[in-house]
Amino acid sequence: MRPLTARAGAAILLAACFHSLAPAARAQSRGTSAPLSSAPIQSPTGVAITDVTLVPLDDERLVPHQTVLVQDGVIAGVGPADSVPVPPKATRVNGAGRFLIPGLADMHVHLFDSDDMLLYLAHGVTTIRNLGGYGAADSILEIRRQVAAGERLGPTIFTSGNWLDGDPPYRSINTVLRTPADARAEVRREKRLGYDFVKVYVNLSPDVYAEILRTAKAERIPVTGHVPGPVGVDAVLAGGQVAVDHVANLALGAAQEPPAALAKRVHGAGVAVTTTLVMVRIAAAMRGAPERLDSMLAQPEARWVSKETREFWRRSPFVRLPRDGWGDALYSAASELTRALEAGHVQLMAGTDAGLWGNVPGASLIAELELLVSAGLTPYQALRAATVEPARFLERTVPGSRQPGAIAVGNRADLVLLDADPLRDIHAVEHRAGVMVRGRWLGAERLHGMLDSLTAAQAR
Ligand SMILES: [Zn+2]
Repeated sequence: MRPLTARAGAAILLAACFHSLAPAARAQSRGTSAPLSSAPIQSPTGVAITDVTLVPLDDERLVPHQTVLVQDGVIAGVGPADSVPVPPKATRVNGAGRFLIPGLADMHVHLFDSDDMLLYLAHGVTTIRNLGGYGAADSILEIRRQVAAGERLGPTIFTSGNWLDGDPPYRSINTVLRTPADARAEVRREKRLGYDFVKVYVNLSPDVYAEILRTAKAERIPVTGHVPGPVGVDAVLAGGQVAVDHVANLALGAAQEPPAALAKRVHGAGVAVTTTLVMVRIAAAMRGAPERLDSMLAQPEARWVSKETREFWRRSPFVRLPRDGWGDALYSAASELTRALEAGHVQLMAGTDAGLWGNVPGASLIAELELLVSAGLTPYQALRAATVEPARFLERTVPGSRQPGAIAVGNRADLVLLDADPLRDIHAVEHRAGVMVRGRWLGAERLHGMLDSLTAAQAR
């Protein structure tokens, strides 16, 4: 790997932070609200997935010929077919020859459009952690409530408050905190409103950052986000921040440190790390290459997102950067560090920065899983980073949250049915026979219909 010098760090910072010019406020649905609010596809008599091979991800193992019974949104029974009685009127899903995994989590997204929630579900993503983006007057909190209440179809949402930044802010829509008093007031405000996390950004000063952590501890709200430049990796690891939400931030912040040594320190600090390799990959590919942005926008996947999102993507900052090898160098560094973090038993969480330039919600998590395997993780490790580890992290950091993460009785029924064994080949996650979210079964036809409805709405 080419070492990342200070010049590289400065040049790549723009690419690594990814957040300038995000659309400030865009809460309008594109007129496809009907699928979001249509009647639940939930049989009152339950859904049984029969004779399926479980991929429980608690260990690297398969459990063949199982029946999973779901009632009232939770898993009511799991076991060998003859031991789980299926109510006569239950909807039966044939699981023979198929593989059932827990629903996937994308632990770093930017939700700009409520229809994006269909995109997540269509790709098997049943939990998202929004780290800023839904600009319209805290409406993300209302959407989170609607999903939790079963009034709206979507992944379970966890969300941070604003991008908390220093003076000058990295970009104009960030919330500027100049003094410790500013920090106290903002953290208390976000806690009062009900956000799950406080998100720290790149230009915070050390004294304001320290006050954010102090207040957040007193208020019992976890702090997550970037490594602020003036604060540095050492202080972030020492201060109680629960996660660093880009591997690339760590790779840049400790560019001179051998990955294994850094991994040891991160593990010792108990800090989780969100991967977002796919965003680094996209940024590297588009660096100084407007023609690649054009070809991306011509792909069918780009028609799943709103016209406003496509317009936002057209203003990609990456295409205006010099066409050089820095993006690729950062990608190599992030990829190598990801492998070292996994080897060093750091809690890795799959995340993608979905919603930002060229990063298609849902599809990006599938790409992330494949990039994690390319980086050297086994399919089992990559899948854990999108299921069991996010569940453990959320249970630890968000008071009172109970996450599925595993296929077990009593857990929320978030499941993905695959046509092939994902432990053998991670590309199996591309072949989804259906998705269950909160006990609602969405078969392959329904998933395709959701994507078609988004394409149709985009064309209007
Ligand atoms: Zn982000």
